[in-house]
Amino acid sequence: MAISKKIESSLAGASFIRKMFEEGERLRKIHGPEKVYDFSLGNPSGEPPKAIKERLKKLALEPVQGMHRYMSNAGYADTRRAVAELLTGQTGLPFTEDHIVMTCGAGGALNVALKTLLDPGDEVIVLAPFFMEYKFYIDNHGGVLQIAHTDEDFMLDMHAIEEAITPKTKAIIINSPNNPTGVVYDAYSLAMLGNLLKAKEQETGRQIFVISDEPYAKIVYDNITVPSVFKYIKNSIIVTSHSKDLSLPGERIGYLAASPNIEEIGLFIEGAIFCNRTLGFVNAPALAQRLVTGLQGENADVAEYQEKRDILFDNLTAMGYQMVKPHGAFYLFPKSPLPDDVEFVRKAQEHNILVVPGSGFAKPGYFRISYSVDKQMILNSLPAFKALAAELGL
Ligand code: PLP
Repeated sequence: MAISKKIESSLAGASFIRKMFEEGERLRKIHGPEKVYDFSLGNPSGEPPKAIKERLKKLALEPVQGMHRYMSNAGYADTRRAVAELLTGQTGLPFTEDHIVMTCGAGGALNVALKTLLDPGDEVIVLAPFFMEYKFYIDNHGGVLQIAHTDEDFMLDMHAIEEAITPKTKAIIINSPNNPTGVVYDAYSLAMLGNLLKAKEQETGRQIFVISDEPYAKIVYDNITVPSVFKYIKNSIIVTSHSKDLSLPGERIGYLAASPNIEEIGLFIEGAIFCNRTLGFVNAPALAQRLVTGLQGENADVAEYQEKRDILFDNLTAMGYQMVKPHGAFYLFPKSPLPDDVEFVRKAQEHNILVVPGSGFAKPGYFRISYSVDKQMILNSLPAFKALAAELGL
């Protein structure tokens, strides 16, 4: 066998999503791309803001001496300072560049955070439904996944979290705005979580870290803002990126920011910089760091995403599909009209609709729609969703 048994079994587990991708390709060949309604991917539909292109042009026309060289493994000091200023403005806490490590996207930051924190056998709580990569990232660093379910509105269920905490718990990953549900946790819930963790830490004498995965933090609707975990939770770390807010997922640029309130914060950051290096990232891409340094206040076209959410939410609920109205990210997570979500996804494919079963997020009985797609495709898909609803008797 050319590959390890563990990787072989991971590949087998991922085969349904791969099959769905292949099914999409097959359907596009038969019906033409405009007749296939592919809501399966989380790629930003928009282009990066204009300011990114202008900065890129400037960097190409006026290169800085040494701009492609190695740097500190934490990233450029001025880039980290720009992030720190933003966070201080949001929280009032004394962030400096020494609390920030630039990373290869949020995925890179998650791996750095987990590698820095975990000893073999340490437990990490994730809240279902969740972004399935967490499972593999936790395993990468010898951690043990513990699942706690959210409540029926996909908000934090404090009782379920408390039940999941054991003397081996080292961290809990939260993700707001959430993939796949789009929900945003409110300040009260974060404060409750902060209180719970404080009480548990006093009981066990062991620190529990909240790793807040926030690549969608700036993609929010209905005039809400995402409350900062730093205000409510002492041992908190943000992992995030510009994959979604600046539509730059291919450029692999993000960061890890750790609360100035963490005890031994200097040691934690030293560890994170070491892990950024030894995981082989070495540093976040130099050009991408320079691109985002002055653009921390920029954002994707949120109004465009909100319009797409509204078209789908209003039409699908009128057809009888049931779902929580999300306030962020670019996903809807309706109830599967069939008890078996995988069977429902197959039925949807017969109408040329591609969506992801909730089982792919550890939440069977639901399905995910990514509306980060062309608006025209959304409009074209509505009759197909209606025919599917009629076939299923909604
Ligand atoms: N976390 C969540 C919840 C995501 O949905 C994604 C990407 O879709 C990531 C992390 C990874 O983001 P990045 O491309 O910045 O690594």
